[in-house]
Amino acid sequence: MTKVISSQTSNKKYFLSINEQGQAESCTCGDCQYRHRACKHQKAFNAEVARAAAFLSLKSKIAQAERDARAAARISWELSMGL
Ligand SMILES: [Zn+2]
Repeated sequence: MTKVISSQTSNKKYFLSINEQGQAESCTCGDCQYRHRACKHQKAFNAEVARAAAFLSLKSKIAQAERDARAAARISWELSMGL
């Protein structure tokens, strides 16, 4: 998958290659092409993906906590009813 990034300092566009794990692998900007290192576009994209993953993980923990709370409430109700 390719993501198009617009340069913040010129009207150039860069193309980020995203691998199947959702990580930016390479970019067409100078930093990546000539200096062969992870450029700011890759770092920004990967940081964004990491934030999204952290958010999803938190969301699923909250959903689990809500299920646990409902189950606890039900058990407590059943006990109070002598079931
Ligand atoms: Zn780049």
